[in-house]
Amino acid sequence: MSDQHADRNAVQHFETLAIHAGQEPDAATGAVVTPIHQVSTFKQDGVGGLRGGYEYSRSANPTRTALEENLAALEGGRRGLAFASGLAAEDCLLRTLLTPGDHVVIPNDAYGGTFRLFAKVAERWGVEWSVADSSDPAAVRAALRPRTKAIWVETPSNPLLGITDIAAVAEVARTAGARLVVDNTFASPYLQQPLALGADVVVHSTTKYMGGHSDVVGGALITADTALGEELAFHQNAMGAIAGPFDSWLVMRGIKTLAVRMDRHCVNAARIAELLSAHPKVTRVYYPGLDSHPGHEVAAKQMRDFGGMVSFQVAGGEEAAVEVCNRTELFTLGESLGGVESLIEHPGRMTHASAAGSALEVPGDLVRLSVGIEAIDDLVEDLNRALG
Ligand SMILES: *Cc1c(COP(=O)(O)O)cnc(C)c1O
Repeated sequence: MSDQHADRNAVQHFETLAIHAGQEPDAATGAVVTPIHQVSTFKQDGVGGLRGGYEYSRSANPTRTALEENLAALEGGRRGLAFASGLAAEDCLLRTLLTPGDHVVIPNDAYGGTFRLFAKVAERWGVEWSVADSSDPAAVRAALRPRTKAIWVETPSNPLLGITDIAAVAEVARTAGARLVVDNTFASPYLQQPLALGADVVVHSTTKYMGGHSDVVGGALITADTALGEELAFHQNAMGAIAGPFDSWLVMRGIKTLAVRMDRHCVNAARIAELLSAHPKVTRVYYPGLDSHPGHEVAAKQMRDFGGMVSFQVAGGEEAAVEVCNRTELFTLGESLGGVESLIEHPGRMTHASAAGSALEVPGDLVRLSVGIEAIDDLVEDLNRALG
C-alpha cells in the first residue's frame, strides 16, 4: 500500500473502506467493480519492462492486489496478503516466522485445523509448541521458553468462545521478544482490530464472515509493519498458496456488506443466547455478550459487539447434543460458519474431531451455532422445536 493510500485510509470509516479501499474504478473501462483478471501472465514492454507492474499471477494479480489492499485497510495494517485458504495463510506464517527448534505458545481452545497444523505438520519439521489458556496472560507468560518466537491467540475462540485480552498478551509477547498472532476470523475486523491492540499479525479464514456467503474458501494475513509484510510476501510467492482471481473477487464482494451483515449476526446471536440461557434442556451457554461469560468485560472493551457465534451444552449428554443437531431444519447441519445462512454442528464429531484426546478436546455435549441473518423469529422457532 502506498503511503498516500494509508493516509486516506486513516480518515475514512470502516464501512466506507470496506467498499472502496483498494478498489479504484477500472482505469481502462471505468468499471465500478474491480474486474476478475483471470490471467496467468502479463505482456512485457521489452525484457523486464513491466507495463502495469504485473508479471505473473502467482507473484501478483490485480484482482488479488485489490483484495490485499482492502484487507490491510480494514485491519489498519501495512500489508495484506490473500491465500487459497485460512490454513494456507497459517502455513505461510509458520514457515516465515519459525525455524526448527523454535517454540510457539498455542491456545487451549482453537480451530481444530490450526491445532492439527502444529501437532501433525509443523512438529515434524522441528517446531515445538505448547498449550496455554490464553484468557490468562500469566499462563501465557508461564509457557514461554527461551526460543518462543510466537504467541498464537484466537479470540473469540472456536468453539468455546473464550476471550483473550489482546493488549495484555501483546505486552507478554513484547517483553518476550515474540510475535503475537491473532486469528480474527470469529470477530472480523468490523468487530475487533487486533493490530491496534498490539498484535503483530492478524490471520483470517476469509471463508467465514469476510466472504460471508458460504461460496468461497480463502485466507489472509495482515501485518502491522512493512518488513514482516515483505517477508511474508516473499514466502507467499515462493510457496505459492495464493488466492486465485475469482476467489479474491468473491471475498471482496462479501466484504462490501460485512458491516451490515455483522450487525444483524450480532443482534440475532444475542437473542439466541438469551433464549438458550433460559431453556431447561440447556446446561451452559457460551456467548461473550452474556454478563455471565468470564470474558464479557474484556470482550466489551476490545470488541464493538459480541459476534454471531453461540455454543451450548445440552442436558442429556453427547447423544442429546447430536439429536439437536439432527433435528433443526433452518439451522443447516454443516461445518464452517460466518455465512448469511444459519448453521449448526457438533464440534466433538465434526470440526474438532482432530483435537480428540488433546488439551484442545471439546465437551461431547457441545453444540455450536453460526447464527445467520434470517428473521430471528424463524430461528427461535426452529431451535425451540429441535430442543423439544
Ligand atoms: C475455518 C477456520 C480456519 C481455517 O480456515 P480455512 O479457510 O478452512 O482453511 C482458521 N481459523 C478459524 C478460527 C476458522 O474458523
